[in-house]
Amino acid sequence: MLDIQYIRRHPDRVQKAARDKGISFDVQDLLEVDERRRQLLGQIEELRAQRNQKSKRTPTLQGEEKQLNIAEVRQLNERIKGLEDELDTVKNRYEELMLRAPAVPFDDVPVGESDADNVEVRREGQAPIFSFPVRDHVTLGEMHDLIDIPRGVKIAGSRMYFLKNEAALLHRAVIQLAVDHLVAKGFTPMIVPVMVRDRAMFGTGYFPLGKEQTYVIPEDELNLVGTAEVPLVSYYADEVLSEEELPKRMLGISNCFRREVGSAGKDTRGLYRVHQFTKVEQVVITRADGDEAMRLHWELLHNAEELLRLLELPYRVVEVCTGDMGQGQVKKHDIETWMPSRNAYSETHSCSSFLDFQARRSGLRYRDGDGQLHYCYTLNNTAIASPRILIPLLEVHQQEDGSIHIPAALRPYLGGREWLRPKR
Ligand code: AMP
Repeated sequence: MLDIQYIRRHPDRVQKAARDKGISFDVQDLLEVDERRRQLLGQIEELRAQRNQKSKRTPTLQGEEKQLNIAEVRQLNERIKGLEDELDTVKNRYEELMLRAPAVPFDDVPVGESDADNVEVRREGQAPIFSFPVRDHVTLGEMHDLIDIPRGVKIAGSRMYFLKNEAALLHRAVIQLAVDHLVAKGFTPMIVPVMVRDRAMFGTGYFPLGKEQTYVIPEDELNLVGTAEVPLVSYYADEVLSEEELPKRMLGISNCFRREVGSAGKDTRGLYRVHQFTKVEQVVITRADGDEAMRLHWELLHNAEELLRLLELPYRVVEVCTGDMGQGQVKKHDIETWMPSRNAYSETHSCSSFLDFQARRSGLRYRDGDGQLHYCYTLNNTAIASPRILIPLLEVHQQEDGSIHIPAALRPYLGGREWLRPKR
């Protein structure tokens, strides 16, 4: 959520942000509703004062004068009630519109419509050139008996899967590697609720826009989260932290559930786009200091890059354009890892800064040394998401005979094994 004072001062910036992000939002609508809300508040206050003054006089009056005064008080009460009813409607509309207002991207964010307009920042590592026909992870999975998609679909529908044998172990290994790596850097590991109330979804900006992507459990008024960012940013919701305890570095380990509405026909082969996956997520809550927030943004990006280097995977970092940003993000970098079967770098990590957008919605504040209250700033980045990361892991490290080389950093989690040998 934005500060209404900011929106009043910079309506053009907010409208441009909506346009650039491809979000349908009319800032004039909001300003009109805001204006009406303020008028009504003023009118109600004035009429209440008049009514109170008149009612105070009633006991001092006699006869006709008293009756007249009582009638006037009644009339004022009716007018107040009418305005209060209108105020309720206007307030609801105001809150609805405030929840839809987009955060304004930093000035240096490239303007574009989709991920095709993202801008490459740098490449790390060498995309391998194979001297044999490259197999994709589905074929490698068959050779090694690693992945069962048909039975996943039989039991749970499209985009569902089983990971078997070494794929299940690799999945656990990459997660544990990420957790160990980040716990050593001071992150607090957290197993989080994956079913949350609406408040957490609104607080983090996943509702109301984007609600269609969420699995909702209406009987229990709960929602399955698409990322541990939701419970982690909500962890301190409606609390006041003290400045000295910031920044908070948290590491969520969770299953993630996504309906993937609008992705029909896209990435249908294999494990790239699925409805359920596991993610280790870095979340930081920090002070309202733009420079510090940017330093933390680079830190989160750096951590993810370190993990990719440990996995010996080539990748590139892209600056995400406005059209590929969410409603609340002001700066975003994706990491795209080389996936031989796609013959492309494809997204495996997403690093986002929100300033106070999520904190305002979540009531997440801190008190500074002078006793002043401020909204916190929040950021997040993927540490590892599996099974998507298994795609480059299996494909990049494949050999001509179908064997797969295990990067050294993963071997301790796999009983020291250096190779996976095909079973078929
Ligand atoms: P996001 O939270 O949307 O920025 O996604 C973070 C990371 O989660 C992505 O970069 C992917 O690695 C992974 N991810 C997101 N959606 C899916 C999906 N539908 N299937 C598999 N992995 C996903």
